[in-house]
Amino acid sequence: MRRKRKVKILATLGPASSDEATIQKLYEAGADVFRINMSHSSHEVLNDLVQKIRNVEKACKRPIGILADIQGPKLRVGMFEGNEAALEIGQTFTLDGDETAGNKTRVYLPHPEILASVKVGDRLLIDDGRLQLKATKCDGKSIVTEVINGTKISNKKGVSLPDTDLAVSALTPKDRSDLDAVIANGSVDWIALSFIQRPEDLIEVREIVGDRAALMSKIEKPQALEKIDEIIELSDAIMVARGDLGVEMPIEAVPGIQKQLTRACRRAGKPVVVATQMLESMITAPVPTRAEVSDVATAVFEGADAVMLSAESAAGQFPVEAVGTMASIARSVELDPTYTGIAHAQRAEPDPTIADAISLAARQTAETLDLPVIVCYTASGATGIRASRERPNVPIIALSPVVDTARKLSIVWGLHSVITGDATDLDDMVDRACKIAADEEFAKTGDRIIITAGVPLGTTGATNMLRIAHIGDVR
Ligand code: PGA
Ligand code: MN
Repeated sequence: MRRKRKVKILATLGPASSDEATIQKLYEAGADVFRINMSHSSHEVLNDLVQKIRNVEKACKRPIGILADIQGPKLRVGMFEGNEAALEIGQTFTLDGDETAGNKTRVYLPHPEILASVKVGDRLLIDDGRLQLKATKCDGKSIVTEVINGTKISNKKGVSLPDTDLAVSALTPKDRSDLDAVIANGSVDWIALSFIQRPEDLIEVREIVGDRAALMSKIEKPQALEKIDEIIELSDAIMVARGDLGVEMPIEAVPGIQKQLTRACRRAGKPVVVATQMLESMITAPVPTRAEVSDVATAVFEGADAVMLSAESAAGQFPVEAVGTMASIARSVELDPTYTGIAHAQRAEPDPTIADAISLAARQTAETLDLPVIVCYTASGATGIRASRERPNVPIIALSPVVDTARKLSIVWGLHSVITGDATDLDDMVDRACKIAADEEFAKTGDRIIITAGVPLGTTGATNMLRIAHIGDVR
């Protein structure tokens, strides 16, 4: 099945979308990559979902990407007597190391390193910022705070510390065990890392994961923004994680950060995903708000590689409709007469490499000759990503003999991955490209197409050839 859209859709799976039939419907509605959220999924659920996605992939005969999202050091308070407590603005409230159930005056914070590192004056944002506390007394073992805003706290609510430099590792013991499960599963293409703060966090995870999955850094902490260039460099992709970012930073800063991150990633040639609350109202309604439609459209106009659904597809009442709505918005934006100009205004200059020179030439040739498709041989996926970085007007078929590469590339803007065997010689390579372009309905007999590849064949990272071939008149 060929998609007529450049931007990709990432759909989170959850209770509303865990059966194979629904996953298949989500794929058919437009989902290119599925996210499994390890905050809410046991290892059994992970393995079960991966198996179901791979069954759908087999039935649909298209490579599908799977992303496992690692929870990271998300801090949470403990439990309360009666599950919650009512608070008053101005009152004193303490977080401490006492495991017993909390009440109106105190609660357990099961992170001794946090109790030790918060300073007087630091803000503590509970429950996505609905409750705001300010530290007034810190003795290293407990934090006394004043309630600045909000009137309620309940079991296991998240705690954000925008003012505190946390001496926490990027991986909690749960994360390490989840990572092991993801690696042991062996069929997960992308691993997303939550709350990373520094380049070292990525280096640490990369040592564990190696090349067994690609790494996506979720940008949701101000500390990560301070070192963003290095983080982008060390990551295989970036997620603009607007949910937590909007808690850790002033909410009005998020749209600008989204634009900056999208541009930086496009420049670097790293896929960028815009996430969270994109069609939030569709959790309970079959149609989105105008503002949500406009939000998805903005990400598409900016040239993001992918847009993501969270609770809309994982826990909402209309998961399939949410994916379908996202796909229609994307399609409509990409056909809008203003799209090309807006998306291309941010096109990055090529780096002085052969791969970039060929990618640029492929795009310009396609535009000059009005050709329908660029076919790009890519073993590791690197050449496919550079071809996408040019953001050509025409689709790109990424041909790879490596199934993991084809799946990984399903998140990348404009790429249509196809798995093919290694070509035996130059003629065979051209034949295959023409046949696949026709079979996948990107071109028909009589059309000319562009092929990029590396000769000698089968050498990774050696794209050095651009060929224009005629379909039906190959040799
Ligand atoms: P989450 O990440 O859904 O795992 O919290 C995305 C975000 O924070 O926006
Ligand atoms: Mn988050």
